[in-house]
Amino acid sequence: MTDRYAVIGNPISHSQSPFIHAEFAQATGQDMNYEKLFAELGQFEPVVRAFFANGGKGLNVTLPFKGDAFRFADEVTEAARLAEAVNTLTLRDGKIYGDNTDGTGLVRDIVDNLDVPITGQRVLLLGAGGAVRGVLQPLLAQQPQALTIANRTVIKAESLAHQFRALGDIEAVGYDALQGRQFDIVINGTSTSLSNELPPIPAGIFSGRSLAYDMVYSRGLTPFLRRAQSENSGMLADGLGMLVEQAAESFRIWRDIQPATRKVTNMLREVLA
Ligand code: NDP
Repeated sequence: MTDRYAVIGNPISHSQSPFIHAEFAQATGQDMNYEKLFAELGQFEPVVRAFFANGGKGLNVTLPFKGDAFRFADEVTEAARLAEAVNTLTLRDGKIYGDNTDGTGLVRDIVDNLDVPITGQRVLLLGAGGAVRGVLQPLLAQQPQALTIANRTVIKAESLAHQFRALGDIEAVGYDALQGRQFDIVINGTSTSLSNELPPIPAGIFSGRSLAYDMVYSRGLTPFLRRAQSENSGMLADGLGMLVEQAAESFRIWRDIQPATRKVTNMLREVLA
């Protein structure tokens, strides 16, 4: 029988996950079906219970339910525990396992696809919300020379630095403290790009050898990437590669096969153009 998977969110109509997983399944010869699942706010648990009761094998979880999924899972991985968020649910031997593949997706996109090492580099993360929390452990595991988190609400950055202190030193600052400093990798993990805004970064943080990475993906350049471009940042990337890589990691968890990603990312780029 065809195995059933889905992505659950609210809203969900925009999700590219069914396209991505259908391509992975075809390329690896897996007999699986992947659909979109909508849940009203407050209805995550009954919708997910019904999905698994009706033969569902695994779920991707997107906004705003990653915290619900974290609480719903019977067991979570270390990455999910630290992220306090789950984006991958798997039914195995009657138990629901929760994982978070966002951080792995980001690191693979930067290191493997863009060929930019994180190890030994000065990394700046903008934002201190769920997206940044979700990627901290895999980023620290790469052993950057230094990791700085800048956030508008500084106490949220400080809180993350405190909570992750066992994994590595994190400098927590407000945007003003970035004045006069440069970084090798600058990752925009704020939601500013969704409202076509620029995070309040001072001029001069990019250099000719910086990677500017926006976790949001979009048709054209986001305001953050436009700023980086105007400062001649060495490389610009949006979060499409991260999206495909986190999906690939979910697929690997479910099917025990690592799908190739480059072709799917290129196809998606054309679909979105
Ligand atoms: P949250 O709502 O949890 O956090 C939002 C963050 O953005 C906070 O740090 C907030 O600062 C900051 N922010 C919002 N508006 C402004 C502003 N005008 N100026 C400065 N800072 C601002 O969102 P998430 O962390 O969940 O998501 C962030 C982004 O990451 C989203 O756009 C999401 O689409 C993207 N994402 C992409 C993924 C991918 O696969 N490519 C995966 C996961 C997320 P403050 O704390 O001061 O309010």
